[in-house]
Formats: sequence, C-alpha cells, structure tokens
Amino acid sequence: MSSQIPTHLVGNDPDIPPMQTLTAVTLRPRPLLDADELDAANARLEAAEPAEIVRWAHDRFGSRLALTASFADTTLIDIATSVAPDVEVVFLDTGFHFAETLNTVRRAMERYALNLTVLRPAADADDVWAHGSDACCAARKVDLLDAHLIGRVDAWLSGVRRADSPDRADAPIVSIDRRGLVKVNPLANMTDDEYEAYIADHDVLVNTLQFDGYASIGCWPCTEPSTDGRSGRWGGAKTECGLHL
Ligand code: SF4
Repeated sequence: MSSQIPTHLVGNDPDIPPMQTLTAVTLRPRPLLDADELDAANARLEAAEPAEIVRWAHDRFGSRLALTASFADTTLIDIATSVAPDVEVVFLDTGFHFAETLNTVRRAMERYALNLTVLRPAADADDVWAHGSDACCAARKVDLLDAHLIGRVDAWLSGVRRADSPDRADAPIVSIDRRGLVKVNPLANMTDDEYEAYIADHDVLVNTLQFDGYASIGCWPCTEPSTDGRSGRWGGAKTECGLHL
C-alpha cells in the first residue's frame, strides 16, 4: 500500500474547490456579569448602604472577592470586614509610601486581624522608573495589581467615591473593569459628610497625615498637602495612577 497521502487531502485535486480561508476568531469567556445583570445590580444597589453592597458582592463572588486599600483611612476595611472578616485586603507597597501610611497598615493589622496581601515591585524598579511618571505608577501599582488579581479573583472592592474628584463623579457602584473583572465601589455614593460621620461614629483608623493637611495620600514624591480632594496628587499633572481606569 502506498504511504502517499491522496492528493485530494492535500488540496491538489483539480476537481475539488480549494478550502476557504477561515477568519480567525477570538473566543472570549462569558463575562462574569452580563449587561442585564450589571444593570440590575446597579439599579438595586444605587441607593444601598455600603455594607449591603459589600454583602451583595460577597454573596455573589465568595472567596473570589478581594479589596484594595490605600490606608488613607480604614473605612472600606471597617465596612467590608464587618460583612466578610476574611476578605483578602491588598496593599500596594510601592516603596514610596509615607511612614504614616505604613503605620496605618500596622494599626489596621492589629485592629482587624486582616487577611492582608502586600504586593511589592521588582527590586530593580528604583533604578528603572523615575517617580512621578506613568511608567512608575505602572511598575509599582498597576502591573502589580493586574498580575495579582487576574485569574485569582472575579471581583474587587475599591474605595472610590464620586465625591473624591470630578473624574470620579460618575463612578458606578458595579462595573466591569478593563481586566474583565467586576469592580465594586461600595462607597461610591457616600458624600463627604456621610464619610466623615462614619469615621467618627465607628472610630475608624485614620492616617495621621490627614491631621497635617493631606486630604489625599499617595506616595511621598507625588503627594502634597491639600484640602481639596485629590488636587495634591502628582502636582496636578495627572489625576489617576491607572488602577481605576
Ligand atoms: S504615585 Fe508616584 S511614586 Fe507612587 S507609583 Fe505613582 S509615580 Fe511612582
């Protein structure tokens, strides 16, 4: 028997039309929330208390839910751990944090017995990226968080509020982020007065820099005292580090 492959199977048979070239398609996994579910969640949660929003997220995503914290205060942690004490809390230790911020992390560990994950950039990042640049935020924040969240969780909680800045004025309660993960902002609709009242009523831990005039607290090279929301960040050159885009 000949071992040759019949010519019609290799496309040389003149009686058989050539196969059409197929267009490559990208198969996308089913979204974690489809458009209808997203709309329904936002309609249901728009006027909900932050704890109710956290509870919805925890019921929906269970252990595949994480929380990111900047430790300007522990409001979101206070609320989230009252609902889900073991929720993973992720802190991005950029290497440029104020001592007061690191001290707030330590105090929060003691108070809440946090299930804390600290993410740090590569050891050579100091020499590669100039602080203040988008590349620095990418290397020390955005890429770290992407690598940690993608594939490990389905949803994450952030402390974004609409009152933080004009850029955040339309922040939804629930959205799908650029990673394809569900992003939940339980504090989105809290006003400044409501936020401050919660801190006072629950004796929430506050980064002591806030008592020195820092309304928003990030890395020390990129943060100035300010009484006007996030205006003290990056000298006004940019408004977001990229985590929330
Ligand atoms: S806030 Fe400044 S120092 Fe911190 S990661 Fe971004 S650019 Fe770098």
